[in-house]
Amino acid sequence: MKISKLFEEHRPRFSLEVFPPKKNGGIETIYETLDGLKDLKPAFISVTYGAGGNIADNSTCEICSIIKNKYNIMPIAHLTCVNNTKADIDYILNELKTVGVENILALRGDINPDVPPKHDFKHADELVSYIKARGDFSISAACYPECHPDSDSMVSDILHLKHKVDCGAEHLVSQLFFNNEDFYEFREKCRIAGINVPIEAGIMPVTSKSGIMRMVSMCGASIPKKLAKMLNRFENNPKALEDAGIAYAIDQIVDLISSDVDGIHLYTMNKPYIAQRIFAAVESMR
Ligand code: FAD
Repeated sequence: MKISKLFEEHRPRFSLEVFPPKKNGGIETIYETLDGLKDLKPAFISVTYGAGGNIADNSTCEICSIIKNKYNIMPIAHLTCVNNTKADIDYILNELKTVGVENILALRGDINPDVPPKHDFKHADELVSYIKARGDFSISAACYPECHPDSDSMVSDILHLKHKVDCGAEHLVSQLFFNNEDFYEFREKCRIAGINVPIEAGIMPVTSKSGIMRMVSMCGASIPKKLAKMLNRFENNPKALEDAGIAYAIDQIVDLISSDVDGIHLYTMNKPYIAQRIFAAVESMR
């Protein structure tokens, strides 16, 4: 099914993100994750793409195939372009088409100072146009409620986002954020700029202080006072921090649903029990 069809009903959709197992983890470990997520009936499950790796080693396509063909759930394959040539992208698109994947989250990827970028694609908009020209896929893209860290201003970031949508992105998934007001302001600016595709809110449940600090240092998300207090209070009590992080995510989601969000995209971190607790808490609101 094409992604844009999913949002025609105008009720919030609930989707999930998983990542491929680490190199030595073995592909079979993903079955445990998916077994734990399947009964949540997500609108789709997206699978991240390890930027910079060897394309033939990348298991995103294989996992998408498992999600579609074994679990009967719609997959979305993430695909980054800054470290890929057009030939690499063609190879991956052919693989995805062969296994029946119809949806791609088209991304630039982070610039790694130790890995010189290839030169066929500079930004995600070029990948969106490239995939769109083939006509085989429905395309999603990323967006940033607190502005992408490389951007000089929110205005230029939103203008680039508008261009990405004009190139063919039919649906947006946001970077994680912890203050819903940031998301609402961003959504309003998008609508004013003429970005009218569905925007799903990316929610990451906090389960460890070091993990979340590493993540926000990479993506530039800010930590509101309420969350900072929670992290400090429970940093040495993992169970309490996990419970508090789940409660925080549920609180964010309830407020987002009350504010007519198009969808919630939960970063599961391959921990199904956390997604289960969050989905159970909001089941009646779906
Ligand atoms: P772009 O849209 O290219 O934007 C990057 C920067 O360039 C922004 O500052 C933007 O304003 C600017 N820009 C955009 N277009 C232009 C233009 N034409 N001219 C000049 N400037 C421009 N990374 C992975 O490696 N694997 C993943 O699976 C993955 N999944 C992700 C999923 C989500 C939902 C999100 C939010 C991020 C994900 N990332 C992933 C991280 C992502 O690759 C990085 O955030 C990356 O730095 C930017 O990717 P982008 O597609 O948003 O880039």
